[in-house]
Amino acid sequence: MSVLEVRDLRVTYAGGFAAVRGVDLELTAGQKLGVAGESGCGKSTLALALLRLLPAGARVEGRILLDGEDVLTMRWGRLRAVRWAGASLVFQGAMHSLNPVHRVADQIAEPIVLHGAATPAAARRRAGELLEQVGLPAARGRSYPHELSGGQRQRVMIAMALACGPRLIVADEPTTALDVMVQAQILRLIEGLVTEEELSLIMISHDLAVLADTCDRLAVMYAGRVVEEGPARDLFDDARHPYARALASAFPRIGDPAARFAPRGLPGDPPDPAALPPGCAFHPRCTVALDTCAVDDQTLRAAGAGRQAACVHVGNGR
Ligand code: ADP
Ligand code: MG
Repeated sequence: MSVLEVRDLRVTYAGGFAAVRGVDLELTAGQKLGVAGESGCGKSTLALALLRLLPAGARVEGRILLDGEDVLTMRWGRLRAVRWAGASLVFQGAMHSLNPVHRVADQIAEPIVLHGAATPAAARRRAGELLEQVGLPAARGRSYPHELSGGQRQRVMIAMALACGPRLIVADEPTTALDVMVQAQILRLIEGLVTEEELSLIMISHDLAVLADTCDRLAVMYAGRVVEEGPARDLFDDARHPYARALASAFPRIGDPAARFAPRGLPGDPPDPAALPPGCAFHPRCTVALDTCAVDDQTLRAAGAGRQAACVHVGNGR
């Protein structure tokens, strides 16, 4: 059975902003899926929807099956059990997710105790083990968040995410706030732990090169939809959708800081969900758009072995 199956997920924020517009995803045990796309394409909205963490007023439709159980129809008690223990999230900018007035070991121990998995003393011992697993000395657990570097705080967040033994980790731009050297270390850490523990991973980033290096499959999002999906290496080396191609050439090297702030060959910005262009949402920025692209919307279709893309050019001999 799939660890995660997302079917026709739609998220509309108050005011009618369609941030996610019909996403399908599937993840088997031990699989690593990278989700790429520029800022504003709906990646975080998708991540938050998976555990029903969206702000009040957001309308969510579709199905989100976690180990076969629909997150969207779960009762609160069950949902609380599933958060941390079934699936957990690692966000960008750990400073905001950690409580400044509590020692980090206590914060790691908290979900363990809350889930009834251990006594407070055993949970604190477990917190120490988890800290060592993420490459920090157990004694670091006595620190407060402000006494740690950004990279160390992100390691603490990863320890917390692992604390209750989830089957799925969702990491939303876990390294964006960190410098390039630390980024690579943290990504390797997440990938190593996920492999070791045979967890499933959704890694979200705007950096396609990083994802191609750490994930089995990639999904590229644009304007709230997956526009291309397939095996990581194939997609990165030979993208079929013009947006995925542009992203791949914009981020040719892992963690390239220059490319991050000025993606090469991709002028403009993704559309505002309140003002989506007609036809294919990418057509105003597309260098190979046809007249029809301004009129006809495109949906995912077969684009080679295990691959799909939503472009008018796909299926015409490719
Ligand atoms: P990404 O993570 O890919 O940058 P997001 O999911 O954060 O994208 O945002 C997708 C779109 O939804 C953006 O246009 C953003 O402005 C909008 N959005 C995000 N959060 C909210 C919110 N709470 N209310 C209204 N719109 C939102
Ligand atoms: Mg985001």
